[in-house]
Amino acid sequence: MKIIDFESGLYRVPLTENWGSSTYAFSSLEFVIVWLKTDTGHTGTGWTFSTGNGGSAFKNLIDHYLVPKVLGEDPLENERLWQRMWLESHDIGSAGVTTHAIAAVDIALWDLIGQALNQPLYRLLGGYRRSVKGYGSGVNLHLGIEDLLAQIEGFLSLGYRTIKMKIGKEDVYEDLQRLMAVRELVGPRVNIAVDANKKWHSGEICRRMDILNQANIYWLEEPIISDDISGHQSVRQKCVVPVAVGESIYTKHQFAHWIKMDACDYIQPDVHRVGGITEFVKIARLAESHNIPVIPHFGMELIAHLGCALPNIEMFEGLKGAGLSEMGIISEPCLVVNGAISPSDRPGHGITFDRRIIQRYVMDDIRLRNQQITTRTDV
Ligand SMILES: [Mg+2]
Repeated sequence: MKIIDFESGLYRVPLTENWGSSTYAFSSLEFVIVWLKTDTGHTGTGWTFSTGNGGSAFKNLIDHYLVPKVLGEDPLENERLWQRMWLESHDIGSAGVTTHAIAAVDIALWDLIGQALNQPLYRLLGGYRRSVKGYGSGVNLHLGIEDLLAQIEGFLSLGYRTIKMKIGKEDVYEDLQRLMAVRELVGPRVNIAVDANKKWHSGEICRRMDILNQANIYWLEEPIISDDISGHQSVRQKCVVPVAVGESIYTKHQFAHWIKMDACDYIQPDVHRVGGITEFVKIARLAESHNIPVIPHFGMELIAHLGCALPNIEMFEGLKGAGLSEMGIISEPCLVVNGAISPSDRPGHGITFDRRIIQRYVMDDIRLRNQQITTRTDV
């Protein structure tokens, strides 16, 4: 099997509901999708995403630099192809735009491997279980308490027994009021995690957590800027609530450093941000060797496969507003049943974008220039 051609596109897809956190507000996500075609008539689909900035940079890197490195090659040599893409891009940055773009090609390669071997991805990667449980995740700091509680009730009705909500009001007692309202709604047995979206420094978040932990918090996510590892160490030492990080960490080397520094209790890698499935699996194995649970960020439909292959994936993120299924852009939606999902049994990952629907959201240079979006609310 050889890769002989490709197509790609940049799409800006509206969220099914607007998002607000302590530091940003979003109403859409960008997806860059790549289709790799082989001499055997197969098509492998890969994609990556941005929260509003960078999609055209990912697409240019994919079209002009990464896909040319895999054309004429056999997808079953995916490890060599991943190393080639990463090492040859390393001088422009070992992570970030580089790994976002590599992810799209890597996911398409794995899709082709599954098709070539006639096996679904979760079985190729280990076949550990047939379903993986999840948690309900809301980007909901902008919601009033009534709407917040309605969203949480929606999570409970899907069968989730862990939910995550945003914190980050200037007045800590406002956060406490929201948290206690949610605790009253869900009772003592449902886990409540909180996400601060990197708003504070370590001293400030510890002071706040002393007040907020009256609600018995399951994990504290991204309390401070993700570049400050020793700050997270300090939070972890001073604060009784477990610390979760990872959606802003991009390579196995970076995760290894965090683990060596004892700076986190859970890791939350994003399969698109770390360079795809090849790197994600290494990060999960690294965490497994340190007995650290993995709770992946975003990407529910693909995480269905990874979560059913890798034993230390504790939960997927059931992110309200932005699943491929919820956005209606794939032909076979992934359904949450009793708080869990199962991957497709089709060869590869079995995730097919509905071309007719995504075409509505295609972005070109003119649209990008005319539809600039601002996401940060704090600068
Ligand atoms: Mg987060």
